[in-house]
Amino acid sequence: MKVHEHQARDILSAAGVPVPEGAVATTVEEAVSAAQAVFAAEGQLVVIKAQVHAGGRGKAGFVKLVKNQDEAREAAHFMLSNRMVSPQTGSEGLEVKKLLVAEAVDIAKEYYLAVTHDRARRCEVLIASAEGGVEIEQVAEDNPDAILKHPIDPLRGLEGHEARTLAFKLGFQGKQVNQAAAIMSRLVKCFRERDCSLAEINPLVVTPPCEKHPDGQVLAIDAKFNFDDNALFRQKAIAAMFDPTEEDPAEIRASEFGLSYVSLDGNIGCLVNGAGLAMGTMDIIALHGGMPANFLDVGGSATEEAVAEAFRIILSDEKVQGVLVNIFGGIMQCDKIARAIVAAAGEVGFSVPLVVRLEGTNVGDAREVLEAAKADIPSMQVATDLEDAAAKVCAAVA
Ligand code: GDP
Ligand code: MN
Repeated sequence: MKVHEHQARDILSAAGVPVPEGAVATTVEEAVSAAQAVFAAEGQLVVIKAQVHAGGRGKAGFVKLVKNQDEAREAAHFMLSNRMVSPQTGSEGLEVKKLLVAEAVDIAKEYYLAVTHDRARRCEVLIASAEGGVEIEQVAEDNPDAILKHPIDPLRGLEGHEARTLAFKLGFQGKQVNQAAAIMSRLVKCFRERDCSLAEINPLVVTPPCEKHPDGQVLAIDAKFNFDDNALFRQKAIAAMFDPTEEDPAEIRASEFGLSYVSLDGNIGCLVNGAGLAMGTMDIIALHGGMPANFLDVGGSATEEAVAEAFRIILSDEKVQGVLVNIFGGIMQCDKIARAIVAAAGEVGFSVPLVVRLEGTNVGDAREVLEAAKADIPSMQVATDLEDAAAKVCAAVA
């Protein structure tokens, strides 16, 4: 699960990481009055930022520094009436429904800081760089040595001396060293306590020295969190931050029916039971020169309603030119699936070719159900085995 930047800033702030104040606005007028409040109190610049579940906003013009009401109005209007397109979104971009209006800060230097899982080392890893900001992907490609990766001991966590050593390596100086080290320790702690799969601050900034802060301040001004969906049952506060409007509606509908659905780029819709069989099905489609339109696992014990919903989801995808049903009846009974296919055909209709491969429990009954329905579902072919099914569906969409 992902959250918006303003929610990520709240989580960081609760973890003791310093973050500039901000407010959320959903209309131009709200944004202008939030900006006005900052102008009045601080007499300084305001930053207006589109809240969408994707980065790369800065370069796309969806993070803007403004110095008066007119500029605030113009920036807010632009963001709320244009879609945000960046390398992290599709070419269609994302609609912006919320803005963050925050105190802007002066930046002396931008750093990158993140915690994630390192699968190869089987531990958490702190990733840090003195080359933070909007070009971090480029840095990772051109100059990977500029990115530090520090494995975190599963039992001891990140110890104070490790954090300070890292802060020195990154070039923090004077009082900034302890500030940066504390932020690293808090980010690691937060990552663990909140069951994150990614906790990222980019940029972490140092502000120039001023009268109030002669050593400058270390602050987080952008944050991104991903959470482990399997842990949400014990992360009620995080789960409550879920914003369904940012997700693929088909994936949301699927999860309501206990279906695991991931939309892909191909044209062959797949309905399979079991994640392993679903992966195998995608492979065998590819082997026969086809491209799956989705991954869909109806689970081991899906109901007829869930299967009918699965067909609705697959067929609502405009890219789908053929459907492959591949069911191994273990717990799942093949005749149930066969009846669901017939019901779905009656309800949604199969305008595209449908290839069905069933094997296992009650397969005899299932074949009879399909045989009887053949006249009503002319686009259906029954396959003898998986190889035959893949060949048939690929030929049907070719
Ligand atoms: P992203 O492009 O989606 O990652 O959005 P960020 O929040 O990271 O903003 C992109 C860039 O805008 C940052 O790397 C900064 O250079 C700049 N920026 C963001 N907020 C501020 C701010 O408060 N003050 C200044 N001076 N620059 C900012
Ligand atoms: Mn950023």
